[in-house]
Amino acid sequence: REGAAEAEDAPMPAKRTVNLTHPDRVYWPDAGVTKAGLADYYTQVWRLMAPFVVNRPLALLRGPDGIKGQLFFQKHGWKGMNKNAALVKDPADPEQEDIIIRDLDGLLGLVQGAALEIHPWGSTVNDWEKPDMVNIDLDPGDGVSWERTIEAAYEVKRRFAEMGLTAFVKTSGGKGLHVVAPVKPKAEWPQVKATMKALADGMAADEPDKYVSTITKSKRTGKILIDYLRNGRGNTAVAPYSTRARPGAPVSMPIEWEELTDAISPNYFTVANAAARIAQQTRDPWREFRKAEAPIVFKEKK
Ligand code: ATP
Ligand code: MN
Ligand code: MN
Repeated sequence: REGAAEAEDAPMPAKRTVNLTHPDRVYWPDAGVTKAGLADYYTQVWRLMAPFVVNRPLALLRGPDGIKGQLFFQKHGWKGMNKNAALVKDPADPEQEDIIIRDLDGLLGLVQGAALEIHPWGSTVNDWEKPDMVNIDLDPGDGVSWERTIEAAYEVKRRFAEMGLTAFVKTSGGKGLHVVAPVKPKAEWPQVKATMKALADGMAADEPDKYVSTITKSKRTGKILIDYLRNGRGNTAVAPYSTRARPGAPVSMPIEWEELTDAISPNYFTVANAAARIAQQTRDPWREFRKAEAPIVFKEKK
């Protein structure tokens, strides 16, 4: 088939059928992004984003009046949620109905519900207890340079490699970076979280002038918080390609390690420039993500 090689990675707009009410409602006033514009953006990135949001419990940051209005961080379904998104019972907590999506229409159903940010779990509903990815969230404190944040990302990459994991990096769309690794779903949440805590504590112990691993704000000036708390059951991190409810309509953008330079910043990629980037890129920066999946190699306790 002609063009098949490109078609594999190309962000071909997927089919959509969800009817948006108030498509002209402005969600990001400074960037001029409307509800319809948000739906168009997600339609363009869908094929790249899907593996990170389909069949995973989702938390949403919802803002019916846009980023300047009240925002709700919502972990469960609500009355009136669009039926293209689905509800599933958490097997460990049958009282709770978690939100999942199965396709682009599911995501557009969430856009209809004013979801401005999409935050998945690190496990799927096929195996709730066993994460298939881990995420170290780098939160630079005041006064930390971009170079030092980049250096921290490489240090996490190195430490991931020591436990058999391949690191991928994305901008957060906010102030930092997320270093993410695919994991073979074998170990359960408590063991995985303990291992990510050990990684963060190790960085803080080895270079205490650079890194902290506990959320004590006062200790953070000039240091980078190695936030491992994205790695517990029910914890979430913003999805690759998700928009952020922050000025400028930034998105959390997967990048190549080589792109991690002065040319970009944590909120460099936005709804306005993402589609062109994706249309122009010859390869998905995270194309190896699922193929690189490996079990975590747990170190023996000394
Ligand atoms: P930044 O680069 O600015 O740090 P970030 O997405 O990493 O962006 P953090 O504050 O470091 O933001 O991480 C917050 C994470 O915690 C979110 O990704 C989200 O999944 C989760 N979270 C839990 N509760 C909330 C809440 N009430 N509001 C927002 N996020 C929440
Ligand atoms: Mn962060
Ligand atoms: Mn954080």
